[in-house]
Amino acid sequence: MTRILVVEDEPGIALGLEDDLTMEGYEVEVAGDGITATRLAKTGAFDLILLDVMLPGKDGLEVCRELRRAGLKTPILMLTAKAREAEKVEGLELGADDYVTKPFGTRELRARIKALLRRAGESEPELCCFGDVEVDFARGELRLGGKAVELTPIEFKLLDVFIRARGRVLSRDQLIASTWGPETFTSARIVDNHIANLRRKIGDDPGEPRFLRNVRGLGYRFDG
Ligand code: CA
Repeated sequence: MTRILVVEDEPGIALGLEDDLTMEGYEVEVAGDGITATRLAKTGAFDLILLDVMLPGKDGLEVCRELRRAGLKTPILMLTAKAREAEKVEGLELGADDYVTKPFGTRELRARIKALLRRAGESEPELCCFGDVEVDFARGELRLGGKAVELTPIEFKLLDVFIRARGRVLSRDQLIASTWGPETFTSARIVDNHIANLRRKIGDDPGEPRFLRNVRGLGYRFDG
């Protein structure tokens, strides 16, 4: 089931959105402030985030910035006020995927949501190859030189996070938030151990890694 996080503090609008999207067959969760929204979104349990800009606690732009910084890739559809043209640009610059101007019609909103979900589904890579490695996302398998290699679910998730963020430095905190979830207690050392195992499994040289590189003082970067 497709899960949507609705972030809206005005109860009337939130309830209307919840009803409408539930009727459309989505599973909906509502967050009424930016702090709750950030916490929920970082679990990665949603397929799309509908994010109002004007929120108590932390505004939608700040939420968007924080989620993207944490490496979250969930599509974000911003709800912006008509009078605030700059919000749209700022939202898109901060990593929102699209916006709808308030007041919006339910039909327009549904169409935007569908388009965004379709786009997100299409961009999902089915197969990713680097070096002698083939990552088959459709089957959840990894092959090294054509031979299947057993990965734990966490290792697979971690590799997926790296591949999606290809070429970008990810801090250990970002890796923890994206792989384990922000509420989990995972130490930097555990992240390092998993990366060491992953390097071994993808045939990376631990002394001089080609794919999962250390970036001194910052974290790791996948170059594949
Ligand atoms: Ca609001």
